[in-house]
Amino acid sequence: SDINLVELAEEITEEMQMICKKNQHIVYQHTGDVGKFFLDSHLLKSTIINLISNAIKYSGEDTFIEFSTEISDNICTIMVSDNGIGIPEEEQINLFEPFFRANNTGNIPGTGLGLNIVMRYVNLMDGKLAYVSKVNSGTSFQLTFEQFN
Ligand code: ATP
Ligand code: MG
Repeated sequence: SDINLVELAEEITEEMQMICKKNQHIVYQHTGDVGKFFLDSHLLKSTIINLISNAIKYSGEDTFIEFSTEISDNICTIMVSDNGIGIPEEEQINLFEPFFRANNTGNIPGTGLGLNIVMRYVNLMDGKLAYVSKVNSGTSFQLTFEQFN
């Protein structure tokens, strides 16, 4: 159904800010149109929550997590970026495999299923998911949806 992206994103920001570690801040910003977008709100919310949960989990205290949405023309872009531990380049090829966990996660807990589910949801929504990551520097995920009227 039609969702109000900004309203949904603000709700997610508020919820996720509560489970942040000490001095982690989620900074949300929207640019472009504020119209409605045809997307499944439950799938989209779960997808974004998964990405922000990872950003929180894999970055340290006193850091910012950038969350942004943009609607321009018929394209919706959603980004989640952190300044965390990053994903080793040679392991990135396995990122969406079930139970994948990178070798730099140390004692950070996880099952390695979140991103596999994210990818399934993104496919169900006919979206695209891209990422850029560098060890000890950070990770950025970008989701895009195109609306055909
Ligand atoms: P869970 O199933 O609870 O989400 P998880 O976080 O380990 O467990 P995924 O979310 O699928 O599983 O992520 C898979 C792996 O990818 C992680 O274990 C971690 O190695 C790496 N990863 C994912 N997101 C990030 C990120 N933002 N920064 C650094 N590494 C990440
Ligand atoms: Mg995860």
